[in-house]
Amino acid sequence: MKTEVLAAQAPETAQRAAEILLAGGLVAIPTETVYGLGANALDEVAVSKIFAAKGRPQDNPLIIHIAETKELERYCHHIPQAAYCLAERFWPGPLTMVLPCRQIVPAKTTAGLETVAVRCPETEITREIIRLAGVPIAAPSANLSGKPSTTTAEHVLYDLDGKIEAIVDDGPSRVGVESTIVDLTQERPRLLRPGGITPEALRETLGDLVVDPAVLGNLPPNAVVRAPGMKYKHYAPQADVLIVTGNSENAAAYVRRHFQPGNAVLCFEEELSLYEGMNPHSYGSREDEASLTHSLFAVLRELDQKEIGTIFARCPEGGGLAYAVQNRLKKAAGFHIVSGEET
Ligand code: AMP
Ligand code: MG
Repeated sequence: MKTEVLAAQAPETAQRAAEILLAGGLVAIPTETVYGLGANALDEVAVSKIFAAKGRPQDNPLIIHIAETKELERYCHHIPQAAYCLAERFWPGPLTMVLPCRQIVPAKTTAGLETVAVRCPETEITREIIRLAGVPIAAPSANLSGKPSTTTAEHVLYDLDGKIEAIVDDGPSRVGVESTIVDLTQERPRLLRPGGITPEALRETLGDLVVDPAVLGNLPPNAVVRAPGMKYKHYAPQADVLIVTGNSENAAAYVRRHFQPGNAVLCFEEELSLYEGMNPHSYGSREDEASLTHSLFAVLRELDQKEIGTIFARCPEGGGLAYAVQNRLKKAAGFHIVSGEET
């Protein structure tokens, strides 16, 4: 199949994308988090094509994307007041809520769960496509399963050219990591995945938030998790990733002791000079966490092009957006972490 590339600015793009979706096709859509691989969320056959194109495990549920908060009631029931408070403050934006699901949403989309994950994305063209199609768009990240997510149309084409009907190109994604997911179906609100909306901001609105153990820990293989997708190794480049913790000097000294030809370093802009001769790649400034989320996946993909053996990675500490970076990098590293103080 020939994949059509539709420019977000072209006047006919939204209409064309909506047509393809209603005909059961796949369209990669731009969002402020990452690019999504979209299908009509209410069409089971179309949704199956997402799993096939990505090689995604069938038990990994999808997020459905809506254009306005008021559409929530069409797909969810028993919506708590907290959901409306979150929507008021953070939608459209990089926040996904898990809520009890109505029957109209097929089991294929929710991986058979009685809940559904819903988000209203910020990107105008994508909300316009949803409005024109009149159906929600189910969309996981538009990458081959397990690989780093895509934050540009070029990256989507690299993974999915010829496997999907179209892609809407709206330039690089602003946030660069997937949405924050909060589960509102439990007694207490629960953070399932950190992202562009920080845990601190959620707590401000909700007054309470439990962090699911899957967020920063390595789950045993038989662990029971809230969403099946939480158990997979994820976001991983071909190279092995090893996170080196500790202060800049100790970490650089550790890498110097262990660096082999064909390795690379993923570090903060401020640390580039410490890694001279060690193939350093910056993914942003330590002082500007938004720069780190924005570029993380793009730099991992760039390193993937170069057949690197091991990537020594530096990871920001603490909460805020750094929390989302830790979650993605730890999963990309398969939880391989060493302290810079070790020999
Ligand atoms: P992505 O892999 O970026 O498409 O995001 C989808 C993720 O959202 C899944 O892997 C789950 O972790 C989460 N998710 C989707 N639907 C649900 C749900 N009904 N309950 C809990 N988590 C969900
Ligand atoms: Mg994904």
